[in-house]
Amino acid sequence: MNVTPIAAFDDNYIWIIHNGRHNSSDPQDIIVVDPGDAEPVIRAIEANGWQLRAILLTHHHYDHTGGVEELLQLSDVPVYGPAHEKIKGVTHPLNEGERLDFDDIDIHLQVLDTPGHTRGHICYYGHDSLFCGDTLFAGGCGRIFEGTPSQMYASLEKIRALPKETQIYCAHEYTLQNLGFAHIAEPDNREIIERTERVTILRKEGKPSVPSTLEEELLTNPFLRSHQPELIQNAGTFSAQPLTQPAEVFAVVRAWKDSLD
Ligand code: ZN
Ligand code: FE
Repeated sequence: MNVTPIAAFDDNYIWIIHNGRHNSSDPQDIIVVDPGDAEPVIRAIEANGWQLRAILLTHHHYDHTGGVEELLQLSDVPVYGPAHEKIKGVTHPLNEGERLDFDDIDIHLQVLDTPGHTRGHICYYGHDSLFCGDTLFAGGCGRIFEGTPSQMYASLEKIRALPKETQIYCAHEYTLQNLGFAHIAEPDNREIIERTERVTILRKEGKPSVPSTLEEELLTNPFLRSHQPELIQNAGTFSAQPLTQPAEVFAVVRAWKDSLD
């Protein structure tokens, strides 16, 4: 499986999934994840001679779904999306554990329910890759708009349990801002400082800072580190009360970041 980013709006990524093995005489089938805007996707389809095969959606926000109607006018393909959200155009509503098998192009994904950012948010996992929309970001996580902190915590714990080598394909380029907060939350964490240096260089070169690996996130993303003593201590100082449960630490760290955004 190969994955290519298409930049959209100010800081969105629309991910294009294709199969690496391609016979150049046929157009290559692609699956598009969270097409908030059709225009850059159509441009890339035309430039590369791709054939749209399916659309995957993680949640209902417009910056992830706004291009669906226009893409469907171009080709009438199945649209997969969360069962617990109303999204125009979805033909295949999905729940936790369901599988998407595109056998002929050898792409196989499974669905994780990850509520919190929105009530029905889902992620797609397969081929050591996670398409996680606005649930997990590089160095951060989505804001909790519709769910509760404990739902979001459980969703991130589900992601935290995936293999360390999992590639994290999130939907926004928020990494530098996120690492700025990560450094405030854990000033003694060298990994955060070093990652910030690496990402700063990538961004100066105009390159995406994503995908990352889950391993990098485990070392530097405060929203996956609620069990770390330095973070527990600093979150306790912010909330002016001692914290014992990891889910509480997570909720305080999320509120702490919100207070600075
Ligand atoms: Zn969103
Ligand atoms: Fe978004």
